[in-house]
Amino acid sequence: MVIIGRWQSRPVTLSVKPNCLTVSVDGPAESSVFSFDYAGRMWTALLDGISYRRGLDGRMIAKWSIAGRQRDRRWLGQEDALKIEERARGTTADLYRAILDGVAELREALPPEGHSVFQSAIAFDALRSRADAKQYHQVYKPVGILPPDQYMAVVLQATEGCSFNTCTFCTFYRDRSFRIRRPVEFRTHAQAVRDFLGAGLSLRRTVFLGDANALVIPMPVLVPLMDVVREVYDVDKLGGMFAFLDGFSGERKSVSDYALLAGRGLKRVYIGMESGSDELLRFLHKPSKADEVVRSVRAMKAGGVAVGIIILLGAGGHAYAAAHVKDTIAALNQMPLDMDDIIYFSELVAEEGMDYSKAAYQAQLIPLTQPERIAQGEEIQASLCFDEQRGMPHISRYDIREFIY
Ligand code: SF4
Repeated sequence: MVIIGRWQSRPVTLSVKPNCLTVSVDGPAESSVFSFDYAGRMWTALLDGISYRRGLDGRMIAKWSIAGRQRDRRWLGQEDALKIEERARGTTADLYRAILDGVAELREALPPEGHSVFQSAIAFDALRSRADAKQYHQVYKPVGILPPDQYMAVVLQATEGCSFNTCTFCTFYRDRSFRIRRPVEFRTHAQAVRDFLGAGLSLRRTVFLGDANALVIPMPVLVPLMDVVREVYDVDKLGGMFAFLDGFSGERKSVSDYALLAGRGLKRVYIGMESGSDELLRFLHKPSKADEVVRSVRAMKAGGVAVGIIILLGAGGHAYAAAHVKDTIAALNQMPLDMDDIIYFSELVAEEGMDYSKAAYQAQLIPLTQPERIAQGEEIQASLCFDEQRGMPHISRYDIREFIY
């Protein structure tokens, strides 16, 4: 329900949805816009032309654009993040008081759920925000990464860490050893996440089985874990389950395995293929070969599970670029991709001290510039062929520096 009104001679718009409240107040130059989940957590804000997003761990990313430049971003320190939350809360509280006092004129009355979410947002003060972030860290091991279309998922950590942890360009799980949670422990975790999200669960779509490689869990263990998810959550209402499968070893899942998992609600598997070039994969210490990925994608699709394929742009610098482009096109074109699938182009982020950076230095690789990385993605994309009747997969960018959960 969208309610239009005026407050302090400025137009205001309230959007009261079943999953969140959005408050928009026009300003002399720019509008201020805030959204809150039903637990009262500020979720997004737009202030002075800068957009902010708060993660469940209390961290906040600010993004802005200046004409003629790329989009900029900055992660806020905790105090700065709390100041943004306080500005959002303060304006929302003033507006709500004005609504109750009849000073703000609304064309329609605020519905009961609108009152409820306003009150939750106003009660979510700095003390509450800090406590919420603390509870997050009790419930979760740090969530390393998610595909961009899964940032609003309910993450449930069926495993901890990555079963490989060898890829030189990846540091997401270096702080923990790989282990599979037992069903009893996983049930406690799933319930704790549900309790932590509280009324904010309504904002979440899908269930993401973390961490990396949740789908390497052998079937006799994976199926009971998925049943636990179904016990604690209404998976179908949330939109199904999603997970990573990264690297291939041990027992490989068959078409009938994937069909069984699809029946349990598995919708899409994300695979960090990175490249179709085995030579480049070896250089990256990625524990898979392109043809293994192609075979697994075929099995998933035949079993009724969609895929998300992640390609690493700029990996291996100029030395590997030609093979990377050629072999990645070849591998992607062997996959039966359709409109349910996604291809993500993710630029390599090579930080100082990373194993990749050391290996690239030793191999005297010349890195691709940012425009060259973009051009590499465009070159790959231009040569992809899809079956017109099955439709095209969604093709999108994936910037791991903007990951927020
Ligand atoms: S398999 Fe995936 S999660 Fe594991 S180290 Fe490699 S890129 Fe990182």
